[in-house]
Amino acid sequence: MVTFEKIAGPKEGQPIQFVNGKFQIPDNPIIPFIEGDGTGRDIWRASQRVFDAAVHKVWGSKKKVCWFEVYAGEKAFNMFGEWLPADTTKAIDHFSVAIKGPLTTPVGGGIRSLNVTLRQVLDLYACVRPVRYFRGVPSPVKCPEKLNVVIYRENTEDVYAGIEFQEGTSDAKRLIEFIGKELGKTIRPDSGIGIKPISETGSKRIVRKALQYALDSGRKTVTMVHKGNIMKYTEGAFREWGYELAKQEFADSVITEDDLYSNYKGKLPDGKVVIRDRIADSMFQQVLLRPDEYDVLATPNLNGDYLSDACAAQVGGLGIAPGANISDRVGLFEATHGTAPKYADQDVINPGSVILSGVMMFDYIGWKDVGQAIIQGLERTIAQKRVTYDFHRLMEGATKLKTSEFAGAIIENM
Ligand code: NAP
Repeated sequence: MVTFEKIAGPKEGQPIQFVNGKFQIPDNPIIPFIEGDGTGRDIWRASQRVFDAAVHKVWGSKKKVCWFEVYAGEKAFNMFGEWLPADTTKAIDHFSVAIKGPLTTPVGGGIRSLNVTLRQVLDLYACVRPVRYFRGVPSPVKCPEKLNVVIYRENTEDVYAGIEFQEGTSDAKRLIEFIGKELGKTIRPDSGIGIKPISETGSKRIVRKALQYALDSGRKTVTMVHKGNIMKYTEGAFREWGYELAKQEFADSVITEDDLYSNYKGKLPDGKVVIRDRIADSMFQQVLLRPDEYDVLATPNLNGDYLSDACAAQVGGLGIAPGANISDRVGLFEATHGTAPKYADQDVINPGSVILSGVMMFDYIGWKDVGQAIIQGLERTIAQKRVTYDFHRLMEGATKLKTSEFAGAIIENM
């Protein structure tokens, strides 16, 4: 059994195993959780009740999640003097599947963001954000239900790699000089510099994940979203590598948009997926104008960041948008919003983001009926206009519920 430095190991349950490229899920899997800072405490309490109730609803006493608390953020700092103890990353890595609430980004102390650190340490290279509409949620568009996409955003490179040099520093000056002298490109001397690395490895592995997901879940298209017309050797290369990967590894099951029209008269054969690409600026129009033509989106880091929030806003779901960061053998499911500290411990915040991240987590481990039970409970509760303050202020005739009451209503409605 795995041991930890500062925390006791889980008291019960079995680890999820990853054998020959597949997860083996015991009936009582150990799943580490990070409660989260600020409103995370209220959110986690509510979410855990919903998760346990859904598992019980589907499996009775046959199966159960054995939750194992691990620490990050303020709670970890107060307990151990560290924002992200090594035990936490070790537990997530060892138990393969984990879930977390929002974490405060510590100011100073040399940590950029705990979320970014977790992604980097565990090489969680795919940020997955499903975006769909829940009937009754106030939305700024006429037909929000037409958008139902899953965004696979590359999580480790692009301008987010953190390779930046501040204007006026000697590093920035040296770099500007080097680029001028050695590479013949002029950069204004009073510039800050950021580097945008996009690799074949990084591009292919995110497109692979997106294609595999589309095939496994019966989705019809994977659209690569890039700005390759301008940034040819980074985002343009992302597109090229994506097509190359599809040809190399998915020749039997994936066809291009050209193939679809030239060889299949525009009719997609059963079991196949189309790979295609769109320029990023056009994509922002497409999700508004022709949302039902899109399915799975594969993007470099920055495009995916913008697009995920734009799509979530379109269905009114920014406050309840779920997310996951995954590698080939670890999945960390998480709230996409922050800690909203002004509402901490008031039992008012919307727990929807963590609850729906839990749905993704149950789908990921193959407990799809559990996810379905939660979705059903949430759909009915929102349709009954029983919602937390954030939706209440935008909905006419709604009943305002506390966080704990909202969780109770979801459970009642399962
Ligand atoms: P925030 O915590 O997301 O809160 C901004 C506003 O969004 C809140 O005041 C609230 O709006 C609304 N909101 C957020 N979550 C909500 C929920 N569950 N239900 C209802 N409304 C919700 O952003 P922030 O204030 O910029 O960041 C606070 C801290 O969180 C920072 O330390 C930041 O670094 C961190 N952060 C963490 C994560 C993460 O862990 N994934 C992500 C982003 C930020 P109203 O005031 O209008 O009600």
